[in-house]
Amino acid sequence: MQVDDYRHRLRGDYMFCIKKRLTLFVLAFSIFLSTFSIASASEIRAVATFPILADLVKQVGKERVKVVSIVPLGADPHTWEATPADAKNVASADILFSNGLGFELWLERLIENVAQADLPIIVLSEGLKARPGASHDPHSHHEGDPHFWLNVQFAMEYVRNIERALSEIDPDGAGVYQKNAEEYLNQLQELDNWLISQIKSIPEENRRIITYHDGFGYLAERYGLSVEGFLVTNPDREPTALEMAKLTDMMKKFSRKVIFVEPQISSSHRYANALAKEVSGKISVLYSDTLTEEVPSYIDMMRFNGNSLVEALR
Ligand SMILES: [Zn+2]
Repeated sequence: MQVDDYRHRLRGDYMFCIKKRLTLFVLAFSIFLSTFSIASASEIRAVATFPILADLVKQVGKERVKVVSIVPLGADPHTWEATPADAKNVASADILFSNGLGFELWLERLIENVAQADLPIIVLSEGLKARPGASHDPHSHHEGDPHFWLNVQFAMEYVRNIERALSEIDPDGAGVYQKNAEEYLNQLQELDNWLISQIKSIPEENRRIITYHDGFGYLAERYGLSVEGFLVTNPDREPTALEMAKLTDMMKKFSRKVIFVEPQISSSHRYANALAKEVSGKISVLYSDTLTEEVPSYIDMMRFNGNSLVEALR
């Protein structure tokens, strides 16, 4: 038997197992619901694909919405593999929020296998114009960078989309969602202003960055940085010797020799360390695709990024 065939079969068995478990689960769940329907009547069950989106949904939904993130804190959304627990969450969801543009390649299969036919699936990047490159979907022909949320103005668009979607499935809560969204949008506008002023405090000639994966195009565009290079386009691969050599030559000319790594990509640290050693440079952290216990909200994450950039480049 070929390894591939074997993997295929394993996967098939696994999905069959999920389906079987799910039937049981859905049954148990409907009994549970009919028992507790009065207590939980107004609570919307939302699933978001990764913690950053889950936090945005939480800020708009507050106590009316229970939000679960499929990818847990600190994990890498690109390489995530769905678990039976994820299948349960999706099967019992009232609404699902995803980023789109090939960012969650594992989601399609999960939806196909377990989502209820009428589950509203909200693609938060819909309607935004993607910058080219950085596509996370190696099979996709329409290239586009999915990391919109690293520009706070685009995160604000996500928030407006979330408010619209929640109001649609829960019209009684529309007033609450509108008020929550307005308050949060004010905080995000403040965050955006703060980031602009932070980056302005960095000498212009130092406003260039080298990152691990090509995830910071929108951040750079909005806040006046230039991404001079990155080690890999997509975190599912590792840099070649030639790519490492090119970056080494480039970085030797920089006055601030800093490589920004991302907490969720463990392999990034090894390559970044090698590069930093080669050019006698330093390593700093920028968050791209995840939150952690130390940085548990979107606003925390962007503040961390602003401080990290200033500290490394000023
Ligand atoms: Zn990414």
